[in-house]
Amino acid sequence: MEVYGADRSLKGKLRRRIARLQARRAAPRRAGGPMVSISFDDAPVSAAVDGARILEARGAKGTYFISMGLAGQDGPMGRNADAAQLRALLDAGHEIGCHTFSHLDCGQAPAGLAAGDVERNLEALRALGAPEPRTFAYPYGDVSTPAKAALGSRFSLLRALHHGLIDRGSDLNQAPAVGIEGPPGEQAARGWLRRALAQRAWLILYTHDVREDPSPFGCTPAALARLLDEALAGGAEIVTVAEGCRRVGVV
Ligand SMILES: [Zn+2]
Repeated sequence: MEVYGADRSLKGKLRRRIARLQARRAAPRRAGGPMVSISFDDAPVSAAVDGARILEARGAKGTYFISMGLAGQDGPMGRNADAAQLRALLDAGHEIGCHTFSHLDCGQAPAGLAAGDVERNLEALRALGAPEPRTFAYPYGDVSTPAKAALGSRFSLLRALHHGLIDRGSDLNQAPAVGIEGPPGEQAARGWLRRALAQRAWLILYTHDVREDPSPFGCTPAALARLLDEALAGGAEIVTVAEGCRRVGVV
């Protein structure tokens, strides 16, 4: 059975921790105020349709980290958005970021293979008519030091899955994020949101499917709406990941 997750062995955990110390690229400055980005990985149709609608109702845009090899395919979180649905996201002003073509585990794959898979995805996204992606999310949040070094120069920000906020000096080659995933996801996200508001820092949230009966990797529409409303009420701006990069001084 396919397990949707990173290598959870001690070796995998050590690899991610060692990678966090190497091939770093520091955020040049802090944001001017609290910011929240909503990202959807893979991305299921429910994220492309209902997730987008919830953001748009609040005048906000999201970031979709897309593996074109999965587009239109059935996955553990439901069917993924197809090319037409991705084009609709672009037309509505949402960001499409890169997530490798084949949803490759960049913690296990040789760096050259990871770079090739990324290039293949970029070609597919160009064929879709997407602007050149400036942001990337590591599938499973995992990366080895050689793959991090190979991919880091290609994007403004590369998102991992360890919890944290982005502030001046944060590593943009392996940036933290917090999941809105499963039953405890909303409360975990809310805790980090309150820290971002208090510290006037940047929080990147992520989820997968957005539906009434979500997978363990997704959330309900109501949970996403509540978090967005709390962020806005607390004075945060909702920005795409690319826009967040500009705010912290990365072109
Ligand atoms: Zn993914």
